[in-house]
Amino acid sequence: MPKTCPKLERCPFFVKYGSELPETCRALVELYCRGDHQHHCKRLTFLEEHGYRPPDDLMPNGDHLLD
Ligand code: SF4
Repeated sequence: MPKTCPKLERCPFFVKYGSELPETCRALVELYCRGDHQHHCKRLTFLEEHGYRPPDDLMPNGDHLLD
């Protein structure tokens, strides 16, 4: 059973959009935020590479919700 991402409760993407995500994006939450892919989350990669937080709408797969 995969662990939930430790950042989940404070993650701006999840906090801001989590309750209103379309079905396809909710699948990403299950896959990344609550599943095996969380170590490949593009929000985490962005933070490591840039040293600052990604835009709130950057989804864990690297797409932007608001595009
Ligand atoms: S989007 Fe990434 S950082 Fe945010 S809760 Fe999901 S896996 Fe964690």
